[in-house]
Amino acid sequence: MWIGIDDTDSMQGGCTTYVATEIIKELSRKYDLIGFPRLVRLNPNIPWKTRGNGAIALHFGRGYGKRIEVGYIGKKIFAYEKGIDIFENVSREIKKIMEKHAFMHDEKTNPAFVICKTKPSYSLYKKAVRSIVSIGEARKEAKNCIYKTYKNGRGIIGSIAAIAWKPYDRTYEIIAYGKEKWVDEESVIKMDKECKTCFDNYDYENKHIAIMPHANSPVIYGIRGENVEELKKAMRMVVSSAIERWIIFETNQATDEHLQKKKIKDVRPYESVIVRGVVKKEPLVIKGGHVIFSIYDGDEIECAAYEPTKQFRNVIKGLRKGDVITVYGGVREKPMTINIEKIKIEKLAKVYKKIENPRCPRCGKHMKSMGREKGYRCPKCGTKAGEKDAKYVIVGRELKQTFYEVPVVARRHLAKPLKRLLA
Ligand SMILES: [Zn+2]
Repeated sequence: MWIGIDDTDSMQGGCTTYVATEIIKELSRKYDLIGFPRLVRLNPNIPWKTRGNGAIALHFGRGYGKRIEVGYIGKKIFAYEKGIDIFENVSREIKKIMEKHAFMHDEKTNPAFVICKTKPSYSLYKKAVRSIVSIGEARKEAKNCIYKTYKNGRGIIGSIAAIAWKPYDRTYEIIAYGKEKWVDEESVIKMDKECKTCFDNYDYENKHIAIMPHANSPVIYGIRGENVEELKKAMRMVVSSAIERWIIFETNQATDEHLQKKKIKDVRPYESVIVRGVVKKEPLVIKGGHVIFSIYDGDEIECAAYEPTKQFRNVIKGLRKGDVITVYGGVREKPMTINIEKIKIEKLAKVYKKIENPRCPRCGKHMKSMGREKGYRCPKCGTKAGEKDAKYVIVGRELKQTFYEVPVVARRHLAKPLKRLLA
């Protein structure tokens, strides 16, 4: 049986992955975990999401074949490579855990759980990670499942979509929980340098420990990586407050599965897109330090590097009219803007800078500009000349024809880091 849970956390605290550890602890007394517990991130642009928009899927049955240690929750937790499905109504156990640990009193928290005999269609996951699934659609997909929703019932969407995920591409995250929460910065840097298959641990530019959660939660840290054994090594290397439990999730984090290639005319709000175009409006720094520009492919759309993307804004400021670029990012509704996660500079335009006004062919004097793009005129005899008659030099460009991404501190869960993309 597959168990999906979603939307139990809030800005005030809690964490859906912690609720997952409680369910694993309870159900592993009777059943075996088949495969890793899964942490599935869904559309990051949905305005009513709780924090990271992450849901959980767990597969229980009678395991066989190879088993791997995937956690410690009062006892060692193992996951089996294969298993025979068991379907039993475990809703009473799950309900008890949900009601104890979910942040029901937060108005934005709308928990749910689902128990399925078989996996829902993959297309439901694809829709939930890339656009918007309605509560009605999710209920329809769950019609042969046991489920319970709380409050407005929105949690059903993530619960069922998480089960629908198939790990065609995957990474892992090891999450450690405890009462007190501190992490030694030096040990994180050492771990980051030694554990090559781990990523997004530390932001060197901004001196930020990225493995620690932003908000209140029982999580001490979460380390991301490609390799389960190296994640366990990374956990042993990080010096922190006492770890009471830990678990490894298989995830769709860092896979870019939220992105879809689009023409500008087909871009819709709340989606995440990959769009290729030519820089039309040059970058402009607006109030708050955000950098805005536009691209064109027959239609035009605004793009932004917001203040939290820090040093990445310097890359964006270096763009010039005529540069051919591909932007990757989430779409904001009003005004319709692509919030850039990364950018590929396909072709840099030649940029010219005027160094001298044209000389008058009659009297040899330097001519005067008649205004922007309006040409030149001799102040003495009135002879006119065009813009092209002035003397120009080609300006060197600092940008290279390559990828640039936001720093670790601003990275989204689903965004594939260049470390993975270019590997
Ligand atoms: Zn003249």
